[in-house]
Amino acid sequence: MLENKKKEQMKIIYPEALVAADVSVTVKEELLMETNPFEMAKKQIDIVAEKMGLNNNIKKFLKRVERSLIVSIPIKMNDGTLKIFEGYRVQHSTVRGPGKGGIRFAPNVNLDEVKALAIWMTWKCSLLNLPLGGAKGGVCVDPRKLSKEELERLTRRYTSEIINFIGPDKDIPAPDVNTNPQIMAWIMDTYSMHKGRAVPGVVTGKPIEIGGSVGRESATGMGLFFVLEALCNKINLDLNPQDIVIQGFGNVGGNIAKILYEKGCKIIAVSDISGGLYAKGGLNIDQLLKWRDESNYLKDFQGKGYKFVSNEDILTLKCDILIPAAIENQITRSNANRINCKIILEGANGPTTPGADNILEKKGIIVVPDILANAGGVCVSYFEYIQDIHSYFWKLERINQELKNILVSAFEDVYNLSKEKNASLRIASYMIAISRLAKAIELRGIFP
Ligand code: NAD
Repeated sequence: MLENKKKEQMKIIYPEALVAADVSVTVKEELLMETNPFEMAKKQIDIVAEKMGLNNNIKKFLKRVERSLIVSIPIKMNDGTLKIFEGYRVQHSTVRGPGKGGIRFAPNVNLDEVKALAIWMTWKCSLLNLPLGGAKGGVCVDPRKLSKEELERLTRRYTSEIINFIGPDKDIPAPDVNTNPQIMAWIMDTYSMHKGRAVPGVVTGKPIEIGGSVGRESATGMGLFFVLEALCNKINLDLNPQDIVIQGFGNVGGNIAKILYEKGCKIIAVSDISGGLYAKGGLNIDQLLKWRDESNYLKDFQGKGYKFVSNEDILTLKCDILIPAAIENQITRSNANRINCKIILEGANGPTTPGADNILEKKGIIVVPDILANAGGVCVSYFEYIQDIHSYFWKLERINQELKNILVSAFEDVYNLSKEKNASLRIASYMIAISRLAKAIELRGIFP
């Protein structure tokens, strides 16, 4: 009966071939999650709800998103043709405060992906006890194929389409995959022009000159470092002799690589969308960052003793610390058995599927979950938002100290609960985040 229901559900979203395939429902479910992060996010809620004995009504409430907006974005291209792009903004929960979450520009972005990312933002803000909810946005576009002028028009039209949805007291976007401070500046300007006054608090991750915060660009990398350091202290692991592998060399991957390299750590492989580089004795990260900043792909870099490694193979290299910092669904049931490290520090959102989590746990690999590991970004975004509202700006030392205090304290809570409940760090993080949210829902009640 249950099997039939699941098969029916899968038929709606899943290719016929898979539904007909002679594999168990569990395997099909896992495959479904691998192609659909929203299914994965909902499955994670189920797993934790069962562990916590969560009230069924609250579980139902948490599995749906509050609002999703789909917009069409017509853009005049430089050659005079018209192209229509599709964009999204989703608010999963504003129970604990205004929505918060990045905007990504990528060719495969879709509504379900954005819903999952919005859900993960809710947990992240709750875990850090920030007075914010979870939201996310995206535009289905390959920004590398646009000129700067086309990118600006796309950003401004997208902002205009979602303008009634966002605002400092409603929902505050930020950068994510393929978006940056310049794009945030265009969003801030478009919103401000509509309101007739400067509203810097509508986005975070802006340039410092227009109300951005010092330390925001490197915040996610810095947060990853503070959490890794806290874990190493707990398990008595000296960071310096460890071999480190990083998938993704953008804001998150590039910054954690830089921080670790400056601390004298050995990074043996990094990758971008083109593939990556491996060197047993360690890579020169300063040279690779310079190469990246001159708009080059890593695969084209010529370094003595450097070998090419694909994005698939980089994940299964033998190392001590693996940092997936590119996109979701990278560590799945198909490769989890071949992962060969002691610690996975999730820089990306949703890089590990629940099926892979089970395998990694059996292998004794410690997984530091995304909602804890990469929460430095939203934390400094929150500091930026406070600074904008008060028109008073902090120094870098204060930003980094407060960031460290919040993240280390969240790590301590998660670590202690994981020991108490004999649960993984992911389950413990979710338990803290979901119980805070459940309490807030209970106190506010269901309107009307
Ligand atoms: P980015 O665009 O700056 O960098 C992404 C990196 O991943 C680039 O090196 C890119 O080449 C690579 N990449 C993109 N698509 C890929 C693919 N299909 N396969 C392999 N590599 C690919 O983005 P970012 O801001 O560094 O975000 C990376 C991840 O971290 C995302 O999951 C994002 O949601 C998450 N995250 C970002 C922040 C932030 O502050 N920027 C905060 C928390 C979490």
